[in-house]
Amino acid sequence: MERTGSFKLLTSPQQTEAFSELARLFSEACNGMVPFVQEHRCWNRVGLHHLVYYPIRERFPALGSQMVCQAVHRVADAYKALRANEGIPKDQPVPAIQFTPSSVSFDHRTYSIKGEAFSLSTTTGRATVRFACGPRQKALLASGLPKEARLAIRKGIWYLNLVFDLPDPIPLSGDLAVGLDVGENNLAATSTGKVLGGGKLRHDRDRYLASRRRLQSNGSRASKRKLKAISGKEQRHVRHVNHETSKAIVAQVLQAGACILRMEDLTHIRAHIKAGNRVRARLHRWAFRQLQDFVQYKAEAAGIKVEYVDPAYTSQTCSVCGGLGKRVKHRFACSCGNLAHSDVNASRNIARFAALSSSARGVVSRPEFAHRVHPCVVESSSL
Ligand SMILES: [Zn+2]
Repeated sequence: MERTGSFKLLTSPQQTEAFSELARLFSEACNGMVPFVQEHRCWNRVGLHHLVYYPIRERFPALGSQMVCQAVHRVADAYKALRANEGIPKDQPVPAIQFTPSSVSFDHRTYSIKGEAFSLSTTTGRATVRFACGPRQKALLASGLPKEARLAIRKGIWYLNLVFDLPDPIPLSGDLAVGLDVGENNLAATSTGKVLGGGKLRHDRDRYLASRRRLQSNGSRASKRKLKAISGKEQRHVRHVNHETSKAIVAQVLQAGACILRMEDLTHIRAHIKAGNRVRARLHRWAFRQLQDFVQYKAEAAGIKVEYVDPAYTSQTCSVCGGLGKRVKHRFACSCGNLAHSDVNASRNIARFAALSSSARGVVSRPEFAHRVHPCVVESSSL
């Protein structure tokens, strides 16, 4: 299991300047290699090294041998990623990648960890810089030697991002499951009865929606710019809320002593005939998918197994008797006497429904199968 730790560097003004200069040279060296890549159609680390090492060393003597090697790796990896993601057709010229002076790669020869400080190679010698160390950073550092390091600037502050290879967590044992419903009215509800992110968040979302509509109907260049700024702001806000919410959800699961977390599979149901309005409304909302992704990431790190279930019948089914109930906004009512918050009722169904798949959203199960499952009894999917 790979985990990245971001270490905020407490730099002096001189160090800030040294890092900026290093990043500038590093990106220029990378950009200087691009024409070689294009001419020779070569993005293999060893091959590119042979092509560019001496000319780049000569052009950027201050960078030093190890930094040039790191720049070769950076360029080779960027082209490998480009080819994997978009492809580089054989009969077309190799596209140019533009490297910006925002980050520098390090390896064990160019950086080291000394207690509560990092020692980093710069063009003016080694810089010893202290870093802010919270409990998460401490735990990561205690887990062993990081495999990759990258110096990066974010909003004027330098960070060292370290990638650690952690042992996979020991899975929690047992078969108690908690269900999670991601909803329209409230952000999420768990089968333990917790409802998260109600009023304030909906208000924020409606505010963003309203200003977006207003700007969209305007259509001028200025409003397009404003629209872009708003969508960036909204995305950062949602990301923050999703981080906080997912943390609270995983805490709920652990507190309940459960070891399985079930969510609805909202991604592969486009062809599903039974998907109601409620499901369809959430289908194209990237925010819900992001919340589920964050929950999965954090849950698995805690040893919780993540499973996905068919969302078709989660909202109208009574979680007590399995019959068909009535859902009016927040209230769910059933003739058996069950009266519950509708999202909590849904999450209780999700908790007891049989899993489609674990940690992979794919197959769609036969819905009638789900109804025969008793609360908290786990059946293996027969698909
Ligand atoms: Zn009922």
